[in-house]
Amino acid sequence: MYKSITTKSAIQKNLSTRTPYKYSLNPYRGCEHACQYCYALYSHTYLGDDNFFGDIYFKQNIIEVLERELNKTDYSQCLISVGTVCDAYQPLEAQMQFMPKILDLFIKHKIPMYLSTKSSLILRDVDKLAHLSKLVPIYIAVSISTLDDELARVLEPNASPASARLQTAIELKKRTNAFIGIHNMPIIPNLTDSAQNIGAIVQSAKQNNLDYIIFDPLNLRGETKFHFADFLRSHYPKLANDIINKTDKGKGAYKQTLYALIGDIKNKFSFQNICNFTEYIKKPIQLSFFDSNVY
Ligand code: SF4
Repeated sequence: MYKSITTKSAIQKNLSTRTPYKYSLNPYRGCEHACQYCYALYSHTYLGDDNFFGDIYFKQNIIEVLERELNKTDYSQCLISVGTVCDAYQPLEAQMQFMPKILDLFIKHKIPMYLSTKSSLILRDVDKLAHLSKLVPIYIAVSISTLDDELARVLEPNASPASARLQTAIELKKRTNAFIGIHNMPIIPNLTDSAQNIGAIVQSAKQNNLDYIIFDPLNLRGETKFHFADFLRSHYPKLANDIINKTDKGKGAYKQTLYALIGDIKNKFSFQNICNFTEYIKKPIQLSFFDSNVY
């Protein structure tokens, strides 16, 4: 169900140390993409609602509040991440059309942007993204856990097909000056961690001149841990216990094996701009922009 809310602030200061940006902007609360491993489930608790995938709140006054904030404060030296607890290009965006207006304001105020999506809908705004990318550095990642469309449909039922997401990244790379990457996250033991799957993602990035890949093994916490365990037991009953063990007690040994595998793949395809999320926060790849303290 779609629900309208008003917001007092559009740009939030980010207090987490596990991100490379200090500010975030979420036009929606909740996300229809329904990725079964979604880390943002906790964010609905503050609304007193436990239906993160089904109850989507849109911030009806987000544009006027954002405009007011950008007129009042100079954010042109700040990286703003759009969609940290939702996908800004989830299906409702086709109707609401918040993003073109947000991009117009970012263009007007020259705001550097970071955005990750699982939707090809972002191509609707490619001209505005191209414009913004000529003014300031912007970073757009498509999130791809697997290139197997069938498996992606089970894991991320309402997102664009994985193959379409890859094509979206390729198109964005051709038509904008943005840094375009792939978020290969999360890597799920026994389901998406094969050399074949990760290798295909890295090879595609290399062949299409994409700028970077960030990967992260599945890390289950809070509500997500319970939700994903239930999902595994109903969809993959034979694998469930082993997958949970590899993200829990057996995590250290599993990570070591996975990182070694990714090191081999990186060398095989001579694609150096790949790192795990923790390294990325410490020293983001290639992007001298991120090294600047002002952001
Ligand atoms: S696209 Fe992101 S926010 Fe949306 S359900 Fe998937 S993981 Fe969660």
